[in-house]
Parts: sequence; C-alpha cells; structure tokens
Amino acid sequence: MLERENMREKAPAPVPVVREIEAKSILNASKIYDYCLNPYTGCQVACVYCYAALFMRRYSGHVEPWGGFVDVKTNAPLLLERQIAKAKRGTIWIASVCDPYQPLEKKFGLTRRLLEILGGKGFPVVIQTKSALLRRDLDIIRRIKDVEAGFSVATEDEAAARLFEPRAAPVRERIEILREFKAAGVRTYAFAGPLLPGNPETLASLLAPAVEHVFIDRMNYQPAVRAFYARHGLLEYLSDAFFRRQGGALARELRARGVRVKTVF
Ligand code: SF4
Repeated sequence: MLERENMREKAPAPVPVVREIEAKSILNASKIYDYCLNPYTGCQVACVYCYAALFMRRYSGHVEPWGGFVDVKTNAPLLLERQIAKAKRGTIWIASVCDPYQPLEKKFGLTRRLLEILGGKGFPVVIQTKSALLRRDLDIIRRIKDVEAGFSVATEDEAAARLFEPRAAPVRERIEILREFKAAGVRTYAFAGPLLPGNPETLASLLAPAVEHVFIDRMNYQPAVRAFYARHGLLEYLSDAFFRRQGGALARELRARGVRVKTVF
C-alpha cells in the first residue's frame, strides 16, 4: 500500500502566461499516427512526466515552468482547412504535445472548431485527453464517421493521479466519460501510460466496461523524473521490474475481461 504522505497534493497551479499566436502549420506528420494536430503549445494539465515538457519550452521560447504557459494557435482552423485540402488521407491524432481539452479550450474553442472541420473530411480521427471538457463535444464527435475518443488513465489511485497529473480530471470521472461516449456509440480506448503506482486488477475492472481497447506503456523518460520519484519515496515504481509486473498484470486482467490490449514496451 502506498504511503498517503508521499501523495500530498501540490499547491494550485499558477495562472498561465497566455499568448495568442499565428502558427505556420497545424496538420503535422507524426510517428505514432499519420498526422498530429496540436491547437495549443504548452499544457495546463502539467503532468510531472510529460515528454513534451522536455523540449517545448525551448521550442517555444518560454521561460515559465511547464504548465505555466500556453500559446493559442488562433489561426488553427484556417490552417487546417488549407492543409487538409492537399493532404493524403490518414489518421489524425489530437493531440500529441498538449491536452486538446485543457482549461483554456473552454474559452478559445479551437479543438471544437477543428473537429467541426474534420467532420466533413473523411479522415480517421483519434482524440486523447485527460480533461472532462471532452464531454462538451460529444455532439460533434459522434458525427465524425471514423473517430475514437480516449483518456490517458495510468492508475486507478486518485492520490497517485493527482500527484503526477495535477490538473487532470479525477480518474473515475475520466472513466465515467468513456462509458458515456461508448453508450453514445463512439469507439473508446484508454492509454495506460506511463504506468503509475496502483492496483492493476482494480484499474482493469474499472476500464473494462468503458473501452474497447487499451494501450499500455512504461515511463520512458526516467532521467527527467528520477528526482521527483526520489523526493516522494517512490523510486521502486520506476524500476524495470515494476513496469514488467504492473504491465503484465494489467494486460492479463484486461484480456480476462474481453478487452483488446497492446503493450508498447
Ligand atoms: S496532458 Fe499530455 S501534453 Fe499535457 S502535460 Fe499531461 S502528458 Fe503533457
């Protein structure tokens, strides 16, 4: 059992520095899917383990800490209309280096406008988030012919999730939304990565009724997070043995419940 003392919540995140910018490109090549679409640079969800944090500050020229800045690509819908007219059909991933439903989306509505455009284009769309604002867009998402909606859910333990993903929706709310989308006829998945401390059997029992398939991944950026794990007395959860044991147990428990699983490590 994890020590609750190790899982103390952080102070609330600061109000981010927000810039409205004109991007040069919005539909970009991706190594995971064919394309990625990122309406924002920066992410208020501020996950401790975020791999985008490793390079996006340098790339964007921001000096604020990860989670403390967001560039809003106000011309994203215009760019998408232009770029997609010339693009070869392929799967579009929203989003690869930001949460498309981070709090600022409520004000700017860029993700919603991009989905409205995509609804008429016939490109397969994969949405990935940790934010409950996804709910708002069920109406347009269900009108996209080939679409999947997913949440990152790497633990069932709410205290662990709060520690590592300070501004994400609670785990049980994420799973509840997946259930709602599935009931509404939208294909759903979960990304269980990077695996965090928790009980794989409980996580599998929560996810199984809510998703068709699950990706499982380990922590891939260990030098960047080692000090954080050490500070919280959690280093055992950064070991190869933990990822093997946790990933294996989660895959077994999900398959036993009829869920398709892909382990990507
Ligand atoms: S939600 Fe995704 S992009 Fe945002 S901080 Fe977390 S891992 Fe990074």
